[in-house]
Amino acid sequence: MLKTDVLIIGGGLAGLAAAKALEGKKDYIIAERENRPGGLAATVKKGGFHFDYSGHLLHLRWPRTSKLILDALAGNCRRIKRDARIYAHKSWTPYPFQANLSGMPAKVKAECVSGFLKAYNTGETGPGDGSEVFSRWTRRVFGGGISRHFMLPYNAKLWQYPLERLTTEWCAPFVPMPRPEEVIEGAYGKKSEGLGYNTVFHYPKRGGIGALANALAMKSGGLRLGLQVESVNIKEGVANVRHFGPIHFKRLINTSPLNDFVAMTEDAPAAVKRAAARLRHNTVYVLNLGARGVRQDMHWGYFPGPEFPFYRAGLASNFSKELTPDGCASFYIELATAGAALDLASAETAVIKGLKACGLLQRASQVVEKLWLKIPCAYVIYNRERAEALPVINAWLKSKKTQSIGRYGAWKYSFMEESVKEGLEAAARLMK
Ligand SMILES: Cc1cc2nc3c(=O)[nH]c(=O)nc-3n(C[C@H](O)[C@H](O)[C@H](O)COP(=O)(O)OP(=O)(O)OC[C@H]3O[C@@H](n4cnc5c(N)ncnc54)[C@H](O)[C@@H]3O)c2cc1C
Repeated sequence: MLKTDVLIIGGGLAGLAAAKALEGKKDYIIAERENRPGGLAATVKKGGFHFDYSGHLLHLRWPRTSKLILDALAGNCRRIKRDARIYAHKSWTPYPFQANLSGMPAKVKAECVSGFLKAYNTGETGPGDGSEVFSRWTRRVFGGGISRHFMLPYNAKLWQYPLERLTTEWCAPFVPMPRPEEVIEGAYGKKSEGLGYNTVFHYPKRGGIGALANALAMKSGGLRLGLQVESVNIKEGVANVRHFGPIHFKRLINTSPLNDFVAMTEDAPAAVKRAAARLRHNTVYVLNLGARGVRQDMHWGYFPGPEFPFYRAGLASNFSKELTPDGCASFYIELATAGAALDLASAETAVIKGLKACGLLQRASQVVEKLWLKIPCAYVIYNRERAEALPVINAWLKSKKTQSIGRYGAWKYSFMEESVKEGLEAAARLMK
């Protein structure tokens, strides 16, 4: 019978960071269902290319976690200045749209700037408390033009959820808020470069983003791959693992999606199960392409227009030349659905057409490799149901001394460093 003090469900960055903090101090097991560590921060090799689960860039903002990540990468890391753009009205303009309208046609610029100033002059452009719905929030904060030409179509494509019901708690760290002078200068004068959470980022020199998880996993004595937890009983301290049997634990850290975790927990009360069943998410399909003869130095672009099936497309080979064979480039192209399966063949044709239309690709024959990767639970939906469900679920977790952390365990829009931070914090709470 397998026994441990701490069972960690999931060997993504949150689980691996918790393990790192427990190493040598407490007995633990990470049960990871895949045969590789890293969760979404993993890299798949195909035909000489390294493909990530879409662009996974390190946005480092906290000293302790930055140090942990950079130490783990041990010099295998590069600091890169962002070159992100938006393609709209058949033109490129720098990101963020609201502060860099210079590339847009004169009529669009005028509509966006005057709409922004009109909204600003109402004196009601504060960030709000997060409960306001996105469609109203964006018009109030950015005005009609910026909303119509970018915020509404882009976010509708990304979230695949009605923007009249999407709430805005997630916006503060991710949506840059320029001042009026920045909007005007960005439209008629200089490029605004310092806005947004990712003006510079870090990325491994070799091995793709999976290099980070691999480095953490190498030092983890308790990582067990290929163990899928199928059911949990917190009161009895037992998790049942597929084709393996029970693991007995004293304390539990979950990093698997919160809705799945509650559903598989036998002793979760009915009210908690009902709350978890109300949580929603979208699904993202990433088409990775390897191509020859691509001459483009940007990192990624956003595509609000309905003529493009994807909301974002990036050039991973511009983060690191080591990701591709010599003379090749690699793209990641992200398409979202509300959960429905995507027809991959027709999506692929539409993607190539889109890449040609915006000039990222000249001919379909340039493509020499491809790999579709599916992220079934990609962006959790912020809505009234989430705001009502989380307090119910979290109160129950607290009463059971169980921690559910990470992007999906905590059911939030967060990034890799935050998962690492939550892993360290969860381990520290356990050792108190
Ligand atoms: C499209 C997209 C782009 C992103 N881009 C960035 C970016 O540029 N920068 C950034 O910082 N972040 C980015 N992120 C977010 C980043 O991927 C996450 O914040 C981070 O990787 C989450 O780590 P985690 O450990 O919390 O969760 P996960 O990576 O989801 O790890 C959870 C682990 O649990 C395992 N698991 C699940 N169920 C079970 C079970 N029943 N039994 C055993 N194991 C189980 C899974 O296999 C997985 O390995 C992006 C996310 C998406 C969707």
